[in-house]
Amino acid sequence: MKLGFSPADEAFRAECAEWLQAEMTGEFADIRGIPNLCDAIPRRKEWEQRLGEAGWSCIGWPREWGGRDATIAQQVIFAEEYARAGAPNRINHIGVELAGPTILAFGSEEQKARYLPEIAAGRQIWCQGYSEPNAGSDLANVKTKARLEDGEWVVNGQKVWTSLAHYSDMIFVVARSEDGSAGPKGLSFLLMDMDQPGIEVRPIRQINGEAEFNETFLTDARCAADAMLGAAGEGWKVAMALLAFERGVSTLGQQMQFRNELDAVIDAAKANGKAAVPVIRQKIARAEIGLRLMRYGALRMLSGTDLAAIDGAALTYKIQWATWRRDLGELGMEVLGQAGEVASGDHYSWPTLPNLFLFSRSDTIYGGTNQIQRNLIAERGLGLPREPRGQA
Ligand SMILES: Cc1cc2nc3c(=O)[nH]c(=O)nc-3n(C[C@H](O)[C@H](O)[C@H](O)COP(=O)(O)OP(=O)(O)OC[C@H]3O[C@@H](n4cnc5c(N)ncnc54)[C@H](O)[C@@H]3O)c2cc1C
Repeated sequence: MKLGFSPADEAFRAECAEWLQAEMTGEFADIRGIPNLCDAIPRRKEWEQRLGEAGWSCIGWPREWGGRDATIAQQVIFAEEYARAGAPNRINHIGVELAGPTILAFGSEEQKARYLPEIAAGRQIWCQGYSEPNAGSDLANVKTKARLEDGEWVVNGQKVWTSLAHYSDMIFVVARSEDGSAGPKGLSFLLMDMDQPGIEVRPIRQINGEAEFNETFLTDARCAADAMLGAAGEGWKVAMALLAFERGVSTLGQQMQFRNELDAVIDAAKANGKAAVPVIRQKIARAEIGLRLMRYGALRMLSGTDLAAIDGAALTYKIQWATWRRDLGELGMEVLGQAGEVASGDHYSWPTLPNLFLFSRSDTIYGGTNQIQRNLIAERGLGLPREPRGQA
């Protein structure tokens, strides 16, 4: 099996790299490399629209819906060049990588026409209404309720940790639509406008000073009866398919960003002399090896043609990259020493290592915690017996 990219893929790389470099050194140079998710929101919304106009927003989608029919290898290449150019984190990551692919998979033609062009054009930002105070890892314990009334779904409940809800136009909500149902049965997957009186968003301030996520309260919030993916009561299937997009191949292109982060740690160690400390040198070498292993693993997945095997391998990838990056955050702090206690300092420009440390704590939690990923690998990947589930 050949690991690597074809000449056609490399030509694609040159094309997107040229465009990205031009934008990041030209009109959008002011947002090049901004590290925080909540910085420069209006400019990042403009950037989404620029990506959309140029056809670089959702390259893996079909052309008829604003994509480029890009292969998975090309999507990885684009993500690599995106990070190499220092382009900012996508404010509509959830719309482009999660909502869009799920609408493509489960939506009617009418729903595709309603939502996909707006996402592709960068005009519609989405957020994810899954977690609740008592439904995180145990998502099937969702208590938010939906009932049909006068041709509309009326929704009541509370979501939490809703990333970027305060900047979003739409939210997908997992809600219990069958009275008396429990667990994964009786849930529906609703697509709701954020701009309505029944939705209140309260930002949660985090340890790094940002407020990237929110509590989202739904009080008689409404959406049309047909603003739903899948059948009523069968939203679990849709919710799980979306999670597979969140954990799966959409993350394979992150390694260029990780390269930048590891380089920042190495630069810091060289600058303050820690690179001469044997234990630090060993840890940097271990991080380098880990990064290369991730890259070879990703290339192996990309070079395979058996989608089932790719999905199986992808099961291991979330825990691999999340753990690597958490360890890198800790190494960055070890290298900085006391200087690392100032989170907002510009010690070594981008990415700031204290921020990397604080944010990387969340990598092993969102999109499925490390413990939950181990359960998935055991049960789905290795076919081991399912863990005992308590009574709801
Ligand atoms: C940065 C960030 C952004 C997020 N954005 C969003 C968002 O936009 N929308 C959204 O809906 N949610 C979001 N989340 C929430 C995220 O999905 C949940 O935090 C995650 O699913 C874990 O749920 P929990 O926080 O309720 O923890 P819990 O489920 O309460 O878990 C607590 C601990 O118990 C462990 N545990 C739980 N069950 C098991 C088990 N069966 N076996 C072994 N160990 C177990 C967990 O691994 C964890 O260590 C975000 C979280 C973070 C950190």
